[in-house]
Amino acid sequence: MNKRSHHEERILDSFQNETLVIHADDAVTNDRTVAPAIYYSATFRAHNATEFADMAKTPHHPQYYTRYGNPVHERVEKVMAELEGTETALVTGSGMGAISTTLLALVSAGDHVIAQTRHYMSTAKIMDEMLPRFGVEVTLVEQADVTAFAEAIRPNTKLIMLETPANPTLVVTDIAAVAEMARSRGIIVVVDNTFASPINQRPHDLGADVIVHSATKYLGGHHDLTAGVICTSEALAERIWHTHISIGAVLSPMDAWLLLRGLRTLPIRMERINANALALAEFLEAQPQVERVYYPGLASHPQHELAKRQMRGFGAVIAFAIKGGYEETERFVSALKLPPNAVSLGGVDSLVVHTAAMWGGVMTEEQMRTAGIPTNFVRYSVGLEHIEDLKADLLQALQVV
Ligand SMILES: *Cc1c(COP(=O)(O)O)cnc(C)c1O
Repeated sequence: MNKRSHHEERILDSFQNETLVIHADDAVTNDRTVAPAIYYSATFRAHNATEFADMAKTPHHPQYYTRYGNPVHERVEKVMAELEGTETALVTGSGMGAISTTLLALVSAGDHVIAQTRHYMSTAKIMDEMLPRFGVEVTLVEQADVTAFAEAIRPNTKLIMLETPANPTLVVTDIAAVAEMARSRGIIVVVDNTFASPINQRPHDLGADVIVHSATKYLGGHHDLTAGVICTSEALAERIWHTHISIGAVLSPMDAWLLLRGLRTLPIRMERINANALALAEFLEAQPQVERVYYPGLASHPQHELAKRQMRGFGAVIAFAIKGGYEETERFVSALKLPPNAVSLGGVDSLVVHTAAMWGGVMTEEQMRTAGIPTNFVRYSVGLEHIEDLKADLLQALQVV
């Protein structure tokens, strides 16, 4: 595991994020490379049987067997732990690998879990279908209502799962308030921090125990890799790692290397993404063809004050409603020339989806209405293109509505 020496701790604590993403992993390996080497080896040799016995006994050894750990994983984990302010981190083969491994490691039959009514679709499936199959009770609550969490707590509540901001309307959860009520009862708080990134939000500082990410989004940042990260204490990480080696959601050394490369520019990408998205959200709010814009950075967002309190920037994702129905919205999205119609978020390319079309494959219109997904909803993930080009593209597409 990546325990810091006292000397290292003093130096790293003085660094800002821009420096951490480039230098936090300097001391992790002692080879002479500047750019990290890719250790494309499934297994690692010990010098003798005594050393082998030591390696086999050490949890999360970075050079034993790649499902257990890998030198490139170790470097990414060091950077992520520093960014989230946790003792350590564990990389996985996808964001869902991070979430499912964390949940399966920390809850058992007879436990109770509190989660939100809005979650990333596959997380919602774990809550609705998978955990109940293993005898774990789940209560879903309205995330904007802190008292709903308090009322849902039972004597056997083991874990609270948060995700903020959350699809489709970027509703925000008060992490500090939920963590406060969980702490005195010994309940573990897990936060999916994918939509914020550690640059915009540090759940551990607000009292959360485990922070999970789809590193496929901002952390990788180039729409080219699939990865996940779990940031937490040494003690919880060791428990989660023991489950991780059985679940086997392993990150390939190549994708770990790409992720590390992406992380080097995360703070400056986030700075531009935050600025671009806020400018576009304000621009969209002023357009006559737009019914409503949902973005935590706008004064019109119902939880703007809370968002300002717990976030340092508001991220790439803007949700907005076009005046009209399914057809008008479909026409508008099809007329956009810059962002491809594609799921995902947080990369260099802007992406757009007609939300109702995305959910159409899995839900009926009736179910979408109940879930609060109107047919005129658009989700736009703002990338690093020039803001004037993005505005011009939106403006020309709005003319066809
Ligand atoms: C994408 C995403 C996930 C899943 O991550 P994968 O890397 O696709 O497995 C989980 N949570 C949120 C909020 C996401 O956006």
